[in-house]
Amino acid sequence: SYRKGGYHAVRVGDPFNGGRYIAQRKLGWGQFSTVWLAYDTRTSKYVALKIQKSAQQFAQAALHEIEILSAIAEGDPSNSKCVVQLVDHFKHIGPNGQHWCMVLEFLGDSLLRLIRFNRYKGLQLNKVREICKCILIGLDYLHRERGIIHSDLKPENILLFSTIDPAKDPFRSGLTPILERPEGGSLNGGSTTNMIEKKLKRRAKRAVANISGRRASLGGEALKSQRSLDGVDVRCKVVDFGNACRPHKQFAEEIQTRQYRAPEIILQAGYSFSVDMWSFACIAFELATGDMMFTPKAAQGYSEDEDHLALMMELLGKMSRKIAIGGAQSKDYFDRHGDLKRIRRLKHWPLDRLLVDKYKFSEADAREFAEFLCPLLDFAPEKRPTAQQCLQHPWLNLRTSTKNETENHSNVENLNVGMSSLRIKVGK
Ligand code: ADP
Ligand code: MG
Repeated sequence: SYRKGGYHAVRVGDPFNGGRYIAQRKLGWGQFSTVWLAYDTRTSKYVALKIQKSAQQFAQAALHEIEILSAIAEGDPSNSKCVVQLVDHFKHIGPNGQHWCMVLEFLGDSLLRLIRFNRYKGLQLNKVREICKCILIGLDYLHRERGIIHSDLKPENILLFSTIDPAKDPFRSGLTPILERPEGGSLNGGSTTNMIEKKLKRRAKRAVANISGRRASLGGEALKSQRSLDGVDVRCKVVDFGNACRPHKQFAEEIQTRQYRAPEIILQAGYSFSVDMWSFACIAFELATGDMMFTPKAAQGYSEDEDHLALMMELLGKMSRKIAIGGAQSKDYFDRHGDLKRIRRLKHWPLDRLLVDKYKFSEADAREFAEFLCPLLDFAPEKRPTAQQCLQHPWLNLRTSTKNETENHSNVENLNVGMSSLRIKVGK
């Protein structure tokens, strides 16, 4: 992918936008871009530099993302809406072509890493509530004030950040080594040429050798003494507007990542803001249990889509005939009575029972959590609560006594919440 039209290869210390930004290290990557930590010499702050592939279709997608991000930043001058802020954008010319670059505020690890770090056991419900509130504030802002549908909401696209002032807590700001993966393996599933990766890593190692030495020594101690994040305001922000759209300007019929996809997308029955609410409910479930809510699979005799619809109905009850046969794709899955064509016997396992039986929730926790989630998972998109209505839900303000929750103790303290790299010096 590091060829004409593809990614731009970056070396530690590379300057961008006339020398304003200096590349520090790679943060992540996706299908269309690589994301680097960079130092902003004008503001003396760290930023995330998203460098798009150069081919025409990627450039077009980047311009669309920049337009959306600009609208988001414009309406949120105080940066309090739980959505990532665009700082700057520009074009960078490299050997592989012209790459649009987005400069974003620097955030921390994704919720996917949080879930993995917690070994898929689920977080304390109190932490789940805090994270849910942030996501809902972000969605309410996007939907109601900006008219934007995110359309790819998933744990990977929600990043943690910390509100602790590093100047007041220099100890915590030494927590960089947390970026090392606990279980190995690639997190983003992106494709990166191995050789270039290795080369870049060697260069990066040389450039920051002295810093890593100190990081390692600080990190171990810091981790040992920071056993709990109790009382710390864990917060997060919605990122990745590469697929965002407006209700009357939709580009794609098939949106969202499979597991977070709403039924109306599978049926092709038209969609609006409420597709994000469906994904939000899937994320909340995953945070609380450590498992994805729906993991459909194709098998002999039926498709992944039909399995997905079956899983939804096993958890949430049968879809009404009107909804089942109402989409452009309905005929592929449902007969005229509104029954699935190839999957006949559904095993109903309602959400509150699932939470008790499989995830060992107390009866009260399960009932309350299911009461919060189920309306968001209404098969009728227009009946789902809006983010604004959801923010009023009493579940968000409940407190579970943490004594009952020692089992699924959150490891959130072991994550990079965004300020970890503050000590890296500008590499010139
Ligand atoms: P894509 O559209 O290619 O998926 P994203 O915007 O999701 O691109 O960014 C890819 C990855 O880069 C994210 O999953 C995350 O790991 C990292 N990343 C993106 N934005 C930031 C940011 N503002 N701060 C820190 N890391 C970021
Ligand atoms: Mg992404």
